[in-house]
Amino acid sequence: MPQTNHEVQLLIDGQWRSAASGKTIEVRNPANGVVIGHVAHSDVVDLDAALQAAQKGFGIWRNMPAIERSAIMRRAAGLLRERADSIAALMTQEQGKPLAEAKAEVLAGVGIIEWFADEAIRVYGRIVPARRMDVQQLVIKEPVGVVAAFTPWNFPVNQIVRKLGAALSTGCAFLCKAPEETPASPAALLECFVDAGIPAGVVGLVYGNPAQISEYLIAHPIIKKITFTGSTQVGKQLAALAGKHMKRCTMELGGHAPVIVAEDADVALAVQASSASKFRNAGQVCIAPTRFLVHRSIQTQFTQAMLDRVAQIQVGDGMNVRSSMGALANSRRITAMEQVVQDAQHKGAKLLAGGTKLGEVGNFFAPTVLADVPLDADVFNNEPFGPVVSMRSFDKLEEAIAEANRLPYGLAAYAFTSSLKTAHTLTHQLETGMLWINQPAVASAEMPFGGVKDSGYGSEGGPEALEAYLVSKAVSIAMV
Ligand code: NAD
Repeated sequence: MPQTNHEVQLLIDGQWRSAASGKTIEVRNPANGVVIGHVAHSDVVDLDAALQAAQKGFGIWRNMPAIERSAIMRRAAGLLRERADSIAALMTQEQGKPLAEAKAEVLAGVGIIEWFADEAIRVYGRIVPARRMDVQQLVIKEPVGVVAAFTPWNFPVNQIVRKLGAALSTGCAFLCKAPEETPASPAALLECFVDAGIPAGVVGLVYGNPAQISEYLIAHPIIKKITFTGSTQVGKQLAALAGKHMKRCTMELGGHAPVIVAEDADVALAVQASSASKFRNAGQVCIAPTRFLVHRSIQTQFTQAMLDRVAQIQVGDGMNVRSSMGALANSRRITAMEQVVQDAQHKGAKLLAGGTKLGEVGNFFAPTVLADVPLDADVFNNEPFGPVVSMRSFDKLEEAIAEANRLPYGLAAYAFTSSLKTAHTLTHQLETGMLWINQPAVASAEMPFGGVKDSGYGSEGGPEALEAYLVSKAVSIAMV
């Protein structure tokens, strides 16, 4: 079925199919709560069919010359570019983000697929000098096998694209459990690969009960690697399961990104760049800035500039071109935002803007600014995943670094300073997987994307991303 609507099927063996049981799950538009479609709910019988197809697909894909695999990936990227407008509309209606952000996500996905398509032809091994002249030693890179991917609802296309790009470029088959709340754009993404001529079974798509599917797939002998993006809590469960079954895994988990605004920062740049990263996708981003640490000498100036910026945000239905921030993806996020704001106020923080749900219909929450947030407030300890700026001031850089490193998370960090020495100190002392200095987050395909500590392990960008889908075979040949 062409993915032009919200009646989403499973992709098994190159075919779009309903679940064997006929079961479906409702899909709602978070901007108005209306049921806009359904997604097929797979059970074990569907998963078994998807696994068999993936195994068959792997046999074909791994034996196809890299240059041909690369060409199919490039064709799929081209189709994704052609279909960007319609796929963005599907995404916005299910996820809530403004249409322009949805289209930017799809086009970024095109770039990521193209980058991985280029890398596919450069997956080299090594020839290692041997200790005897009649021996040749080779290191051959081989695809790990069939990969099971579990992706979340905040970036329905791009959370898949990074995993899919790396898997396909290295010759792996890819079976994805995509988010039930935002299923149509992931299906439209995979349809581009089907239409580009990818052999049946190389890519598969299922939906259903996330815990049941992950438990079944991770344990299954056909699956050789898992990759997950989502909360640290779920990530730890899946990593434990992967350990039990000796499966390789990549874990892209929660963060709690500090933003250090040093006394010599360009305040206008700091506000413009950090607010752009903060309110993108209504703050439902694992690398969103969440702990603003502002030098006391510029606190008043920074706070006023942030409030001015927040006042300009137009909250509304993402399908309306005037909206610069859409609905939160689900009502769980509204409850979470209300709780963190109340908790922070209760513990002594000052609420300077927002703090409440907007309107009766839809999951709209006001862009929120909290100042003088105490360290024991929930919002300064647990990933808020919403449109809340939480600020504290500091006097010495060491205090800010200690606070940045205090939490078990280590995904993203930001800093603003005009001092090379401060930039150098932060580069070396912050415990983080990614650091952006004097700029908003830019997650480019060629740079590693991933965290340290409880934010997970493995990377979804750069050469490291490909390495995660490869195994090394050491071969030593004695000439006789
Ligand atoms: P959640 O933790 O239950 O779900 C997050 C994602 O994980 C969803 O896509 C869900 O389908 C999936 N999931 C949950 N349990 C699973 C399981 N046992 N096996 C496989 N997949 C499973 O909760 P939520 O309410 O959807 O999101 C809450 C929190 O998750 C957020 O506050 C945020 O911290 C985190 N999250 C992170 C990202 C990210 O990009 N890192 C994306 C979405 C959510």
